[in-house]
Amino acid sequence: VHEVEAAGADRLHLDVMDGHFVPNLTFGALVVRALRPVTRLPLVAHLMVEAPERLLADFAQAGADGIVVHQEACPHLQRIVAQIHELGCRAGVALNPATPLGTLEEILPELDEILVMSVNPGFGGQAFLPGSLDKVARLRKLLQVRGLERIDLAVDGGIDERTAPRVVQAGATVLVAGSAVF
Ligand code: ZN
Repeated sequence: VHEVEAAGADRLHLDVMDGHFVPNLTFGALVVRALRPVTRLPLVAHLMVEAPERLLADFAQAGADGIVVHQEACPHLQRIVAQIHELGCRAGVALNPATPLGTLEEILPELDEILVMSVNPGFGGQAFLPGSLDKVARLRKLLQVRGLERIDLAVDGGIDERTAPRVVQAGATVLVAGSAVF
């Protein structure tokens, strides 16, 4: 953590996996709590979990600055985004590769971050899906048209020296790199 902080990272993105929404299992709010005193960087919890509403308060109390939930895991997405804001955190929504941008159309102005998954979530080290570039470009255009360019457009999965410039060119403002860094 200190190395990436010194190297210029501007936030830490923590991949929380529950073994149900995604096949893998990682960690929960305890790790956020443990990291909080270690760094001044904002901590963003990316919840790849079923029914994330059960966990929002735990992550907020553990010190998360932002919470990202999956559209696919939230039939009542608007309520969950409002809950995240009530807890004092920035609210993000992640979209799996097959989930259309249109699923966020009604809720767009309430979001602080949109996370475009450029791999299917669940494992580190997967190859970047090239179709993600077009999705990022279409989302950038949508945010421009709606006057919502304050929203972070993040891309997660297969980001490395080769894919990073292409993703930025397509309109991303936040790059999440796991295997390429760690
Ligand atoms: Zn992530």
